[in-house]
Amino acid sequence: MAAEGETLGFACTCGRLRGEVRDVSPAAYTHIVCHCRDCRSAYTHLGLADPEKVGILQTTQDRIRITEGGEHLRVFRHTPKGALRWFATCCDTPLFYTPLKARLVHVGLNTDRLETPDAVGEPVAEAYIPAPGGKVKNRGLGRMVGRMVTRMAAKNLSGEWRDTPFFEEDGTPARAPRVLSREDRAAALMGVGR
Ligand SMILES: [Zn+2]
Ligand SMILES: [Zn+2]
Repeated sequence: MAAEGETLGFACTCGRLRGEVRDVSPAAYTHIVCHCRDCRSAYTHLGLADPEKVGILQTTQDRIRITEGGEHLRVFRHTPKGALRWFATCCDTPLFYTPLKARLVHVGLNTDRLETPDAVGEPVAEAYIPAPGGKVKNRGLGRMVGRMVTRMAAKNLSGEWRDTPFFEEDGTPARAPRVLSREDRAAALMGVGR
């Protein structure tokens, strides 16, 4: 597990976009693994192989700083109601997802972008695990949601929800999100296995 107050570096594949997750005490983040088609098709949409599952460090947006190459940050949404899927356009690397509303403060950083992925320890929750008969299973989701809600409440009370690289002061996303066309969405999903 990350030590109290530790800073974790992250970067896109080519290294032009860099940043850090600051003050990563164990209470400040949750390490999960997600097998859902949205997380995986964020990769296939960008021309990458289906990762089959995506490691995610969930934390609050005020802890994220982009220190270099912020001009490469772009965002898309799978559907008009979908989450914001942030990526580096220099090398088409998926980086983050956030909800559409800044006030929710939540952010997930793909752990494959961390300089030291082992620093976040073992995942405590796993979502959309494929199970026999086309079903899915989940593990630890109650704990995951509980931790998310606790962090959200604290940041809203303190006003720290305004401190984010993903949204402007008026709450609009810092980059205009592109919504995938039905064809682009279908093509991204075609690349995702079960
Ligand atoms: Zn890059
Ligand atoms: Zn997912």
